[in-house]
Amino acid sequence: MLDWLRRRREAASRPIDEASWREATASWLFMRGLSADENARLKALAERFLAAKHFSAARELHLTDRMLVEIAAQACILVLELGFEWYEGWSEVIVYPTQFVPERETVDEAGVVHLTRDPMAGEAWLGGPVVLSYEDVALAANERERVAGYNVVIHEFAHKLDMRSGDPNGFPPLHRGMSAAAWKEAFVAAYDDFCAKVDAADALPSRRVQAALDALPLDPYAAESAGEFFAVASEGFFETPELLAPAYPAVYEQLRMFYRQDPAGRLARIS
Ligand SMILES: [Zn+2]
Repeated sequence: MLDWLRRRREAASRPIDEASWREATASWLFMRGLSADENARLKALAERFLAAKHFSAARELHLTDRMLVEIAAQACILVLELGFEWYEGWSEVIVYPTQFVPERETVDEAGVVHLTRDPMAGEAWLGGPVVLSYEDVALAANERERVAGYNVVIHEFAHKLDMRSGDPNGFPPLHRGMSAAAWKEAFVAAYDDFCAKVDAADALPSRRVQAALDALPLDPYAAESAGEFFAVASEGFFETPELLAPAYPAVYEQLRMFYRQDPAGRLARIS
């Protein structure tokens, strides 16, 4: 019996050695200012993630231990103060070497069926897998090529949290003491403002559009829908809180209460 219990406990976590942990996590923006205790708890969660989730490689990608650690650690920063239970109810992570092109049929308002083949960096299925392009996962650690605020793992796992209350609509289950009205007010106002800014940028002479979009506090993809706004704002919250907090303080405050973390405060403490 004891033996069985011990085995069960062992299987609940897959150890990551200290050196590979430090190496994998060293250059990520969201690690800035994390205390030794937070770092250790993040590692423990990532070890649990590795044991609990099944990884599969697509298109002959060779999935290395390092890749698994990178995905698990970035996924777990979101639930550092929420608990692993928030990722229960599904089991698979599928990793492509580069962006993937799923064929999708959509029906428009006129009843016309469109077949789309848009390359994707990631995807999260309701009750199903998370799909990631490893090339995009690796970008977060590339200090020269990354776009600050872009993190495909944080993005897709924010959708997973949102999906705990059904379709991803930017309204994850809130904690006791949080106000649904305050959440809605903060997000609707920021989303409307952000969409207006993206429209204004798009209306500029073409040579100025990109610079105007680059100057926005979040990736313009946030204007796609309320669900995407929450996922992109989550990327900004962890990766570039110094941009999100001043631009949309009410959204920052709601996310601080939701994730129970204060990345802007962590940055202020180390600067
Ligand atoms: Zn998305």
